[in-house]
Amino acid sequence: MTNFHILTLFPDMVLQGLRESIIGRAEKAGFISLEALNIRDYTQDKHKKVDDYPYGGGAGMLMQAQPVYDAYLEAERRITERKMREARPDKRRNRVIYVTPQGCVFHQEMARELAEEEDLIFLCGHYEGIDERVLQTIVTDYVSIGDYVLTGGELPAMVMVDAIARMVPGVLTNQDSGETESFSDHLLEYPQYTRPEIWNGQAVPPILLSGDHAKVDAWRLEMAKERTRERRPDLYAAYEREHPVK
Ligand code: SAM
Repeated sequence: MTNFHILTLFPDMVLQGLRESIIGRAEKAGFISLEALNIRDYTQDKHKKVDDYPYGGGAGMLMQAQPVYDAYLEAERRITERKMREARPDKRRNRVIYVTPQGCVFHQEMARELAEEEDLIFLCGHYEGIDERVLQTIVTDYVSIGDYVLTGGELPAMVMVDAIARMVPGVLTNQDSGETESFSDHLLEYPQYTRPEIWNGQAVPPILLSGDHAKVDAWRLEMAKERTRERRPDLYAAYEREHPVK
């Protein structure tokens, strides 16, 4: 089970987006839990302000350290309280992921690794980002979803939570589909087909109707290699390194 704690200025956006479909069902079934803490609820400013001008000048506003830190402390407090309730106190530091274009780029292997954590705290920035001092105090991982800049960290956090949650055992009904799909063994997934056998004048490859599982597997591997070679030569190079032709 993985418990996701998301620190954000837009909790409804994050929870409404994630509570659809498979991830929502996984939460109801108890394989994961989701909570979003509204950073604005933790500001000490009487006007509920959470941002201010950057020292030294420059464009835009920055999220202030205090509300972010207090929201983080509340997430930690809830985690500790839950563990105490379950009579298993735990001194390990929780991973705190700041979603930022300045992080290393998220990938499937990272999703698998993070799915082994019991608790994950995500911090979503907004405006021009967050005061560096609080980042240095609480963040363990800086992770990006790609080399482009979004207006806020909510979509990146949702992307990561979705990818991580589906690697948590029990979340996918057919666990196989998490193990043979794209990026397992450095390959993209092979092409797939469903009914009808002929659509728009195009037939399903006859081998898939043969009932010969060994031949189907061999065909799928060839297709996966061909597709990866064409679309992602960088991935294919990694596949070739791991599977040298003898
Ligand atoms: N001024 C920042 C910079 O140049 O690195 C960009 C700030 S961005 C407008 C606001 C917030 O969106 C960031 O603090 C971060 O949380 C989130 N964000 C934007 N692009 C992202 C990306 N590619 N991956 C992860 N988070 C991103």
